[in-house]
Amino acid sequence: MEDCIFCKIVKQEIPCADVYADDKILAFLDIGPIAVGHTLIIPRRHYPSLWEIPGDLAKDLLLAMQKVGRAMMEVTRATGMNVVMNNFGSAGQVVPHAHWHLIPRVEGDGLFQVAQKEYESREAMHDLARSMKQALG
Ligand code: 5GP
Ligand code: ZN
Repeated sequence: MEDCIFCKIVKQEIPCADVYADDKILAFLDIGPIAVGHTLIIPRRHYPSLWEIPGDLAKDLLLAMQKVGRAMMEVTRATGMNVVMNNFGSAGQVVPHAHWHLIPRVEGDGLFQVAQKEYESREAMHDLARSMKQALG
């Protein structure tokens, strides 16, 4: 895609600090890291979000996340790692080329402190689960 910054990285029109590359996948350091070592994994082909990614490529991406994530944790001496994917603007997706964030974590680093919510009732929770099951078709 012409205006896509990640497609430009794939085509080497703009530089990146690459960590892993194969014929389908690229991993490189995020230019605005949440933590040192924050890495992005992308398919070389442009897919806007999770739902356009073919199953066989999804499997290869997951295997690449395992491989790169292990190396990232080792080098940064992280003791944990978050895998985050933002889909669509309301979820914080800024670059419309599907990608996963690998974020190294250490105890007490204070990242991602989100307050949990409660359902009105157990019944409301099960009603929602039923609706979602129906939506699966
Ligand atoms: P999103 O919010 O779309 O899930 O994440 C996009 C990520 O891409 C951001 O964390 C941002 O820092 C990173 N990013 C944006 N432009 C560039 C770039 O030109 N090079 C690199 N390495 N990362 C970028
Ligand atoms: Zn793209």
